[in-house]
Order: sequence, then structure tokens, then C-alpha cells
Amino acid sequence: MKAARHWLPPIPARSAPAAWSSLFQALLVLLAVCWLVSCRPTVIVPAAPPSAHPTAASPTISPTSPPTAAAPAPLLFDGDSAHQFAADQMALGPRWPGSPAHLRARAYIIEQAARLGWQVETQNFDYQGFAAQNILARANIGRGPIIILGAHYDTRRVADQTPGSQEPVPGAVDGASGVAVLLELARVLNLEQIDQEIWLAFFDVEDNGSGGIPGWDWIAGSRYMADNLTVTPAAVVILDMIGDADQQLYYEGNSDAALQAELWRIAAGLGYADFFIPTIRHTMIDDHLPFARRGIVAVDIIDFDYPYWHTVDDTLDKISPASLERVGRTVQTWLEQ
Ligand SMILES: [Zn+2]
Repeated sequence: MKAARHWLPPIPARSAPAAWSSLFQALLVLLAVCWLVSCRPTVIVPAAPPSAHPTAASPTISPTSPPTAAAPAPLLFDGDSAHQFAADQMALGPRWPGSPAHLRARAYIIEQAARLGWQVETQNFDYQGFAAQNILARANIGRGPIIILGAHYDTRRVADQTPGSQEPVPGAVDGASGVAVLLELARVLNLEQIDQEIWLAFFDVEDNGSGGIPGWDWIAGSRYMADNLTVTPAAVVILDMIGDADQQLYYEGNSDAALQAELWRIAAGLGYADFFIPTIRHTMIDDHLPFARRGIVAVDIIDFDYPYWHTVDDTLDKISPASLERVGRTVQTWLEQ
């Protein structure tokens, strides 16, 4: 059996007094050099990390930062953060006009956009006896031509693509995904780099045509906004059904050809060519149409090849953060380039 021993530090090669003397001399030299060049301790303050969802706030710079500190790194659209914005909406329940969750969705969108520093207003109007409400969040006001980014926040009352169902559509890809991308853009857009006024338009009463709610038509919210514009936006980009994990974004037949080509080129440049496919596949009645009909450049980014469209299975698990991120970063790059 070995005797237990206490651990001792290794003995230096030189004798202790000699080592202390050398160390003292070195310190003196260092202090002298320091005094000569007026060196001061430098406090390195790490840049504030991108604010996390959902308690995000603007990144702040510590007051102890030296004045020459670099600006915080620009924020990039984050798929997981966007997915959380979708999950928050889904937690409210199906958001068809007239449901309690629809009212809660309005409050949620207004709260989030305001928290992220955007100027929020509502556009209230009557649609077939229903008190409809578009929500508009604006930034860079007066800074340049107006760009509208739009998505509908209402969901469909009846999942009529599920045979025999009278249940509402949960509205994950068709509803929550577009709003989620707009809210994440509200968080990350580097507005100082953008010489345009940006409107985030959250449209009501889009998705209950053809019997969704008896007697209702499609795209009533965007129609109301387009019909009541007092300014002419330079462009409108609609995001609808963009969250599907199996993402295929084709050109859409009613969209402006030049802007569509530009957006798809940007996507390809970001490495998304497999998902943004530059050929027309579907021609849609969607929220871009009322603007396009008024001669405004408008594009609908939509993935209509979605097997759970208007079914009870349009649920949160169908949304992929990577899909949200591809669309979000494409739009962000378009605006900030
Ligand atoms: Zn729909």
C-alpha cells in the first residue's frame, strides 16, 4: 500500500530568491514602458448578441465601450426565431374571423410590432357586417419610396379540403407562416441600410372565400387597403404559405415579372436555387392582386404545392424554420442590398 502524499508544486530550476528578483525587474520594466506610452487597460465589451425571441429588445452598447468600438453586427433573419412567431400564433388557436383567437392574433401582432419599434396603426372597416381590421406597421417613414410587405393573419373557417370536416383550418403554413416572416423581418431589418419606407401589412379577411364563411369573397382585406391608398407604393411583396418543409417556390402567374426575377436571382445568390424555381406554375388570387390591378408592381411569394392546404392537418409541425429563413433572408437581402 502506497502512502498518501500531498501534491506539491514543481520546484523551479532556479532558486526562489533569484526568480523573484527577475520577476520584480521585469515588472519594473513593464511599468516603465507602460508609463512611457501612456498605455491604459482596454476593456473589451462583447457586442450585444442579437436579441432573442420573445423578449427581444434593441441591442444596446455598454456605456463602457470605447468610442471607437465597432457597431453591433447587423442582424440576420433567423429561422428559429421566425418559427417561434408562428408557434405563438398557433398557440392562440384557429384564427378565423369571429373567433376569439382571431382577436387575440390582432393583439399579438400589434404588441410584437410595437415592441420591435415599428409604428403601428390599424385600418378598420366593415366587411359584410364583420368588423374587419388590417394592421399596418411602418418604419423609415418619409425616407423614400414605399415598399409594402404583406401577409394575411386570418385563417379559414372550414377545412373543406378534409372530406366531411366542419372543423376550422389550424392555419400554420396558410396563415401563421407569412405573419411569422413579417414579424421576424420587423426584428432584424437593418433600417439604416434601407432607403425606403417599409410597411408591414397584416391583412384580415383573406381566406374565407368560396364558402369558408357563407357569402364571403377572398382577399377582402388587401382589396380594402389597395382601394384606399392615398400614396402609390413602389412595390408590394406578399408572403403566403411559405413555411412548408417541402418548399417549392415557383414564379406565380399574376406577379410582376421583373421583380419576381430579381427576387429569385437574389435567392439563387444566397444558395436557394433548389427552392426558388424560376418558372411559372400557379396563378393565384392572393393579396398581391388588388395592388397589381391598380398598376402597382406586386409579387406573390407562395408555395401552393402543399398537401395540407385547407385541411385540418395544416399544423405547426409542417412549418420548417429553414423554409421561413430562406424566404426571410431573400427579402432582407433585397431590401438591404
Ligand atoms: Zn388559404
